[in-house]
Amino acid sequence: MDRSPVVVIALFLICCATFTLAQTPAQAPQLSTRDAASQQASAAAATFDQVIDRTIEREHFFMAQMKQLHPLVETYLQNLKEDKELNAPVPVSDVYFLGRLDLSSWETDDRTFSSPTTSGLGKRMLSKLKNVYSMRFMPLGFAQMVILDQDFQRKYYDFTFVRREFLGEIKCIVIDVAPKKDAGNGRFLGRIWIEDQDYNIVRFNGTYYPHPRSSYYLHFDSWRQNLRPGGVWLPSLIYSEESDLKYKLGQTLNYKAQTRLWGYNLKDFRRNSEFTEITVDAPQAVQDESKKAQDASPIEAQRAWERQAEINVIDRLQQIGLLAPEGEIDKVLQTVVNNVMVTNNLDIQPEIHCRVLLTTPLESFTIGHTIVVSRGMIDVLPDEASLAMILTHELAHIALGHRLNTKMAFNDRMFFPDERTFERMDFARDRGEEEAADKKAIELLNNSPYKDKLGNAGLFLKAVQARAPQLKNLIRAHLGDSLLNGDATRMSSLMTASPQFDPKKADQIAALPLGGRVKVDPWTEQLELIKTKPVAITAAADKMPFEVTPFFPFLTRFSSASASPDKAAPAATPTPEKTATASPSGQ
Ligand SMILES: [Zn+2]
Repeated sequence: MDRSPVVVIALFLICCATFTLAQTPAQAPQLSTRDAASQQASAAAATFDQVIDRTIEREHFFMAQMKQLHPLVETYLQNLKEDKELNAPVPVSDVYFLGRLDLSSWETDDRTFSSPTTSGLGKRMLSKLKNVYSMRFMPLGFAQMVILDQDFQRKYYDFTFVRREFLGEIKCIVIDVAPKKDAGNGRFLGRIWIEDQDYNIVRFNGTYYPHPRSSYYLHFDSWRQNLRPGGVWLPSLIYSEESDLKYKLGQTLNYKAQTRLWGYNLKDFRRNSEFTEITVDAPQAVQDESKKAQDASPIEAQRAWERQAEINVIDRLQQIGLLAPEGEIDKVLQTVVNNVMVTNNLDIQPEIHCRVLLTTPLESFTIGHTIVVSRGMIDVLPDEASLAMILTHELAHIALGHRLNTKMAFNDRMFFPDERTFERMDFARDRGEEEAADKKAIELLNNSPYKDKLGNAGLFLKAVQARAPQLKNLIRAHLGDSLLNGDATRMSSLMTASPQFDPKKADQIAALPLGGRVKVDPWTEQLELIKTKPVAITAAADKMPFEVTPFFPFLTRFSSASASPDKAAPAATPTPEKTATASPSGQ
């Protein structure tokens, strides 16, 4: 059997359901209004049968909605291997996908944002990996975990009531779902949580079943959030894991992965932005010039030109859902930058702003006078001094006058399709500028309030260095510079004064798990700091530096207050704690 042509497919680990069934005719649901199904459902279902009927009806409405929505889907996966000393699995390699979901034709465009590692040297490494694992993950498969069953019908399933249970503040009916004998391949098998107002499925946990002979389905825990009024619950977080899936003689699959969805509302932004971007984002200079009613001097013109390039790029990154809108966390970052600037008597005009890239890989860069840090980077930094280290390196680029390529000042250069973002935008610096920025940053940090706390920052860099061979896709940059530049580590002089990185020491926190600090609203892309209670770390295996963990979001119902962007009060004190307060439970 292993010699038949089928074996090629068998080696590929296809984790998606087979979507060969007829598509449900798409209606055109209005997201903002309650549909007929939910109006009916406003009276509580009296019997278990009614609950099932309404849930199924609601799921069909959900499917029709999803076909019109095109959120970004990001999957980050870590392959694991048992570490005997730690007595826990640790990552040995990783995989990263970023794409836009398109269920109208049942596929995600996985070429979108294709990573440089799929060409050249990367390709060779990839083929090496293939020899080890003899299988491949399909980005499509993870994206499809947003769907329970595209043709969810009562006749295909047995339903068993389990209990009532709260998820966050949402009262749920918990039901076990199993496909009937001849219901066909790729049905859902597992448990569903149904909220008790509109009967939306808010969480489902299980796998697809039965699997065809030549492929496998993975296990997943898929969460939806109430993002819009009218009981609109949309997929936001999916955790997937296998610890003992035997897919070939002597081969076992052992991995964990986080999939995040956001950017459901991007089209609206695009439409609105035609009217708002000029008035909202135009720099002070425009106003001043009109007041003075005179031409800009050459130096003013040059600055305005650079500022125009900066605004274009930032707008574009926000429009395509890679950059979060301005918010609470930007202010936290700005506070840290100000701390360094004030103690160094730095006065930089125009004022420096900080923004957050919504993606997981660890990177930071500058766009003109805007410092951009990725969400993943903020998640894993162990403390404020480490954050200061990252920000000060970027501040140094600005202080040294390292410029943005002004080709972006021409508006036509911004009209490229999303998937070419990483090709057209490149903020990486050359080696010379990197070294100069490192040197300047050390100087700035030594005058800053962080000067005595940089041991941990150095320790963080050591952890990055130590994990880089296994976590190539996390510890690399898409748009800017990686923490590692060939064999050089950014700000490496900080490492000499820092303790030895020891993953086995329970009280040494060099880096945090992913997903512990920053929460993304998948509709507005507004960011929020996660409020978690400090969890005492008792065993070294609990530290999980740079690792993905399961999701446990605190579910709430949509309220206009929670969606208001000005709700977020400016945080006066910078966020990261010194102690080991990472929540291993993720969001
Ligand atoms: Zn740099």
